[in-house]
Amino acid sequence: MPQLKQIETFLLDLDGTFYLGDNIFPWSLRFVEAMETLGKRFIFVTNNSSQHAAFYVEKIRKMGVNITDEQVFTSGQATIFYLKKYNYPKKVYLVGTPALEEEFTEAGFELTAHDPETVVLGFDLTLTYEKLRIACDHIRQGVPFIATHPDFNCPTPEGPIPDCGSMIALITASTGVKPKIIGKPYPQMVEALQAKYGLENPNTVAMVGDRLYTDIAMGAAAGIKSILVLSGETQLEDVEGSDVQPDFILENLGEIADELLKNHSSL
Ligand SMILES: [Mg+2]
Repeated sequence: MPQLKQIETFLLDLDGTFYLGDNIFPWSLRFVEAMETLGKRFIFVTNNSSQHAAFYVEKIRKMGVNITDEQVFTSGQATIFYLKKYNYPKKVYLVGTPALEEEFTEAGFELTAHDPETVVLGFDLTLTYEKLRIACDHIRQGVPFIATHPDFNCPTPEGPIPDCGSMIALITASTGVKPKIIGKPYPQMVEALQAKYGLENPNTVAMVGDRLYTDIAMGAAAGIKSILVLSGETQLEDVEGSDVQPDFILENLGEIADELLKNHSSL
C-alpha cells in the first residue's frame, strides 16, 4: 500500500475508531507510537458540539495518551470558522450548551435572544421549550439557520440519546426551514481543518473512521483520502453495497500503524 505512506495528517474519528465508550482500543497506543516514530500528525475530529476540545483532551489523557487542545477539532469549532469565513454578522441566537456558548463568546460573537442575525443550533443538552420557541420565531422571520452537525442520536453507555439532528427535525417541522449543516459528512468540516492546520495537499490528508455515511462520505466530499476501519459499526459486507467507497479498508488503527511501519527503519 504505497499511497498510505503518503499520508502525513490523519483525521481521526473517536468512538468506534480510537476508543469504544470509555475504553481505549488496545491497538490505539501502537498507532500513536507509530505517529511519533514517523513524525506524522493526528487530529481527532468529532461532531459532538456539546463539549469543549478540552473535554476530549482530558478523556484521552485518562486513557494514557497525552494530546494537546490543538489535536481535537469539534463541529462547534468548524461552525465558528464557517460563520467567520462567510462574514456572518456577530449577533447570534445560540441554542447550545454553556461550553458551546463559551466557545462562541471567546470567538467574538455576541449571544442574544432579541435581535440575532443568525440562529445556530448545537447538540444542546440544556435545551428548553423556551429556547426552541425563540429559535423558531427568529427562523420563521427569515434569520439564517445554521446547525453544527446532522446526527440524530448520540451513543451513550445507557443507549442512544437525541442529538442535534433530531432537534433540527423539530425546528424544520415547525418552520419549514432546513438549516445549513456543518459537521461530518459535510465538507465544511474539512475546509475548516485545512485552513486551521494548513493542510494544503489533499493527497497527504486522510479521514479515518468506522462509519461510511459520515467519516468516509466526508473524506470523499472534501477530496481527501479516506480510511475505513472495521473496529466500529461497519462490517466488510456493508462496503460492497455502499455508494460511498473508502480509499483504504483496514481492520483497525493498529493495522494502519503496521502498514506504515513496514520497511521503515528507525536504526
Ligand atoms: Mg465513530
